[in-house]
Amino acid sequence: MRVIIVGGVAGGMSAATRMRRLDEHAEIIVFEQGDHVSFANCGLPYYVGGVISERESLLLQTPESLRARFDLDVRTGWSVGSIDRDAQTVSVRDVRSGAVQIERYDWLILATGAAARDEFVRTVDGPVVSTLRTIDDVDRLTDALAAVPTRPAPWSPAADSSDSKPSRTSCVGGSRSRLCSAALTL
Ligand SMILES: Cc1cc2nc3c(=O)[nH]c(=O)nc-3n(C[C@H](O)[C@H](O)[C@H](O)COP(=O)(O)OP(=O)(O)OC[C@H]3O[C@@H](n4cnc5c(N)ncnc54)[C@H](O)[C@@H]3O)c2cc1C
Repeated sequence: MRVIIVGGVAGGMSAATRMRRLDEHAEIIVFEQGDHVSFANCGLPYYVGGVISERESLLLQTPESLRARFDLDVRTGWSVGSIDRDAQTVSVRDVRSGAVQIERYDWLILATGAAARDEFVRTVDGPVVSTLRTIDDVDRLTDALAAVPTRPAPWSPAADSSDSKPSRTSCVGGSRSRLCSAALTL
């Protein structure tokens, strides 16, 4: 049996490991268009805010570790573009080279999740304006924050210190446990 899973974060990797437990002989291929799989979204705000200090702590698994532990074929940098349900195939594009290939499946699992709405971000001027959903977002945000001139709040113990953070952060969207934790940790 050949299983193709589209998307390699929480949904996709949960499906892949569950599928492995159900069938130890299945060929399980995960296509993830980004560079990272199975990363800890929940930890992203805490890394931006410095509560989690090691970037590697966000990366729970790699294609290599998933191959070793679950015998999964995890391919990052590959985007699934179309599905031919009659032929039971998907077309898959190498994000870097643009090369396209056709892959056959017996089972197809779509775990494509969601994407941040960034049309708002593109319209806002500011030193650091970013979405916060992926490892790429975090890298962009931490780089940008490092370059921002710091201006501590007057009441901050860091007011006399040059080692301070931006004094004002705005957070758009998110629940108490998610994006707003970015604002709190900043
Ligand atoms: C900052 C933040 C904090 C969070 N904190 C919490 C928390 O504390 N507790 C909690 O329960 N949840 C939390 N969440 C939510 C949780 O992370 C999501 O519910 C979870 O990531 C959803 O996983 P998913 O696999 O369904 O989708 P996603 O995480 O969106 O992953 C989908 C993947 O599919 C890939 N993909 C999409 N289309 C294609 C394609 N055509 N070809 C190949 N790949 C494709 C995408 O690149 C993406 O990597 C948080 C989310 C964020 C952003």
